[in-house]
Amino acid sequence: MKTQEDGTQASPELGRRQFVKGAAGAAALGALAQWTPAFRIGPADAQASCAVPPNFPSSIELYQQAYQNWSEAITVDSVWTAVPQTPNDVVTICNWAVQHGYLVRPRGAMHGWSPLTMAQQAACPSNILLVDTTQYLTAVTISTATSPATVTAQTGVTMDVLLQDLETAGFGVMACPAPGDITLGGALAIDGHGTAIPATGETLPAGMTYGSLSNLILSLTVVAWNSTTNAYALTTFTRTQPPIKAFLTHVGRAFVVSATLQVGANYRLRCQSYVTIPATTLFAPQGSSGQTIASFLSSAGRVEAIWFPFTTTPWLKVWSLAPTQPLTSTVVTSPYNYTFSDEIPVELSNLLSEIIAGDAALTPSFGALQLSIVQAGLLFTWTYDLWGWSKNTLLYVKPTTLRVTANGYAVLTSRANVQGVINAFVTEYQALVASYEAQGLYPMNGPVEIRVTGLDQTSDVEVTGAGSPQLSALRPRPDQTAWNVAVWFDILTVPGTPGSDAFYTAIEQWLYSTFTGSYAAVRPEWSKGWAFTTTAGWSNTTMLGTTIPYGLTVGQPAGDNFAAAAATLDEYDPYRLFSSPLLDALLP
Ligand SMILES: Cc1cc2nc3c(=O)[nH]c(=O)nc-3n(C[C@H](O)[C@H](O)[C@H](O)COP(=O)(O)OP(=O)(O)OC[C@H]3O[C@@H](n4cnc5c(N)ncnc54)[C@H](O)[C@@H]3O)c2cc1C
Repeated sequence: MKTQEDGTQASPELGRRQFVKGAAGAAALGALAQWTPAFRIGPADAQASCAVPPNFPSSIELYQQAYQNWSEAITVDSVWTAVPQTPNDVVTICNWAVQHGYLVRPRGAMHGWSPLTMAQQAACPSNILLVDTTQYLTAVTISTATSPATVTAQTGVTMDVLLQDLETAGFGVMACPAPGDITLGGALAIDGHGTAIPATGETLPAGMTYGSLSNLILSLTVVAWNSTTNAYALTTFTRTQPPIKAFLTHVGRAFVVSATLQVGANYRLRCQSYVTIPATTLFAPQGSSGQTIASFLSSAGRVEAIWFPFTTTPWLKVWSLAPTQPLTSTVVTSPYNYTFSDEIPVELSNLLSEIIAGDAALTPSFGALQLSIVQAGLLFTWTYDLWGWSKNTLLYVKPTTLRVTANGYAVLTSRANVQGVINAFVTEYQALVASYEAQGLYPMNGPVEIRVTGLDQTSDVEVTGAGSPQLSALRPRPDQTAWNVAVWFDILTVPGTPGSDAFYTAIEQWLYSTFTGSYAAVRPEWSKGWAFTTTAGWSNTTMLGTTIPYGLTVGQPAGDNFAAAAATLDEYDPYRLFSSPLLDALLP
């Protein structure tokens, strides 16, 4: 193997010529990797089987379009979709929907996994109206009149645009979801998060949070039922008004048209990649010395481990605060610098095709190839050590990346326990993988991803009396004051891989039975997979009706918990316009 400048090693399997050729051949997996809702059908050409929404306000554009979520597990043709030009158009749509018995589903980039927006169903659902926020509800206004500065943004704006506007004005966020093509509305709905806790000696700058984006909210404008006028209307809640606690992270049970967020001064980040630290070292038991996750958290505070199946050295990214350019760093002036992970080389697509066709025993080779691509990619694109304004390394996943499915959980615990939690998780994961392999099954063919964030501490909000997000996975536990971090775990696999739902069920049951008491607790990552049975996600009735609500109730004040959030969301949407079968089960 060839050793790089940073001590990492390039794969012998994928030379530069092959790598470049492979990247160019990415289209080979096009059907699996990319999808564009290309067609639109107007009311005049409506499919015969699909009634035009009756008496729909003529001033608002309406067309039929397919809905498809990220993993493509939900693909519904010809869903009636409205395009509001203003927040008041959304109000008009909602009042029309009450009259005509329709559900109103805000639609952002559709880049999630869980069926929060709608369930898989036959084409053309008769009473669902999608509302596409991305075309007009995109205004962004930055105000420096207050300290900290604020940004007021309509919820259809993408994180790409929002973070670029903030950067131009000199502002940024501590952490954010890795893809920037998602909308602000979609990110706030599910407590969008990145990875960041304070490095040793680091203090929180004004306007920032180590928690989720939801914890930056100072006020929200939502479409809500007004019981005086007996109609839906625009309503603004500030961070100190009790109802906002249900809306800060609402899991899709609301329609938010704009949000005002606090923001901090922008800053420069360095992001270094490591691909030669053994998993046994990185994920070693609590108290181990050397290059553990805990050691990187102490020195830098920001890590992400991506561990491909059946490989021994994860891809570790470590971000650190670096006001001036380190000598060995490459300056980046835009995001999405890991082009090799956003394009699918033909070698990978061929191997995946063989696995999908039934040769599951190729999964270890698939894992090895994924790691080789990263190793070679980091070397040939000169991206193993990047430096620039915060967003340019915080955003790194493009929609052209492999479309896989994922489960997702946050484990709340104290910072001192992080290494132990990770070690326990990977030990269980490996044992499960081995037990499946012994049966000739390879249910997980994508990586394990591990990140660590702070919690949604109201003290991070520069407003006295700020309310705590009742449905956020990062809501602190008042009865566990030592808990100050969440370890996020995801395991990715190609949708429909044999055994995957059973595997996901086993790991979910293990997580919930292991991380208990005063040691740690588990909550779902709303946008990903949870509530598994051996045949499907989001379908375990005990998880939906008992376990998950309990996780957002235990330790919380009476009247300020999961049930309180459900009641508030119902009060402001008594017609349940903003719901779906999953939300009806979770928040009945
Ligand atoms: C490849 C990939 C990587 C990801 N990485 C991360 C990550 O690093 N961190 C992270 O936190 N998440 C991550 N996610 C998850 C992503 O943040 C969520 O799925 C997010 O909800 C997607 O936003 P969207 O615009 O696509 O929303 P959609 O998928 O269109 O909608 C998602 C939910 O938000 C609701 N919603 C959308 N707009 C509004 C609105 N205006 N008002 C009220 N509700 C609204 C919808 O009703 C629905 O319930 C990732 C997703 C993908 C596909």
